[in-house]
Amino acid sequence: MTKEQLQQFFVSQGDKSFRGTQVYEWLWGKGAHSFDDMTNISKETRQMLDDNFVINHIRVDQMQRSSDGTIKNAVKLHDDLTVESVLIPTPSRTTACVSSQVGCSLDCKFCATAKLKRMRNLNPDEIYDQVVAIDNESRLYFDKPLSNIVFMGMGEPLMNYNNVLKAIEKITSPEGLGMSPKRITVSTSGVPKMIKKMADEEVKFKLAVSLHSAIDEVRTSIMPFNATFPLNDLREALEYWYAKTKSRITYEYVVWKGINDRRKDVEALVKFAKYVPCKVNLIEYNPIGDDHFKQAPDETTDMYVRELERNGITVTVRRSRGKDIDAACGQLANKS
Ligand code: SF4
Repeated sequence: MTKEQLQQFFVSQGDKSFRGTQVYEWLWGKGAHSFDDMTNISKETRQMLDDNFVINHIRVDQMQRSSDGTIKNAVKLHDDLTVESVLIPTPSRTTACVSSQVGCSLDCKFCATAKLKRMRNLNPDEIYDQVVAIDNESRLYFDKPLSNIVFMGMGEPLMNYNNVLKAIEKITSPEGLGMSPKRITVSTSGVPKMIKKMADEEVKFKLAVSLHSAIDEVRTSIMPFNATFPLNDLREALEYWYAKTKSRITYEYVVWKGINDRRKDVEALVKFAKYVPCKVNLIEYNPIGDDHFKQAPDETTDMYVRELERNGITVTVRRSRGKDIDAACGQLANKS
């Protein structure tokens, strides 16, 4: 319920509207798990709330810690479904990688989540609660609050657009976690219509695109939905995004042996990367037990770095974290 709905409920019960504000603050600001936690509200009112409402709180069912400090949470939802979220610590920041759907409706061939069919979208509070749980763990284990959020967990965030945006609104609002939207990145496989919609709504968070190939036939072979949303449509949407937001795009890119390791793959990426101001993240691949996808050797990655840099494109090579607990990119599949 919105704050206004809660206020109206209390007024309809003959109480004051600020009681609704108090309950709202307990739920969103203080992460109350039960009405009994709401200690500045009378016992009778708490009982009345308990009789009329439920708090569908998520529960961290299992927490695994990697040898590199990464934490993976298996999160149980109120209907017993599970999603995963990850806390990635580095010396300068702690990042939450959160899920937006249970499973995924897209079928990227290299991704473990794709093997689970999409069961449902997460509600805004279920997304928000994952962030709160990771923020608490960050404070507990690393002595600092969460600094960044990436929507790179299970699911395609733009296929659950409204709920993801509502969750971000709460995460950034002073009543919620008060985080700067600049510290939030929504990572998409590239749904052109939704990228334009976000641009029209002048969102303030950052955008990342899982690109993996700038050649249509290669991209379609590893991300079949590219047949429906080809690179030209994606390019047009990204140009629109940049014209409206002036926010640089990050391309996520894995180099696989025998798939996108040729010179012409690099050249296509260089060309694509010049359309809109961007940076390229070359990500290490994390095996998901499929022989088809193998990380290309370092020399191939070096060739990508050289060519991108020679063309004035910012590129970083990102080492994976949490591989030993299947918490790295593309590995989330409720295995634990
Ligand atoms: S990479 Fe992302 S969009 Fe593709 S199947 Fe996996 S979770 Fe879905």
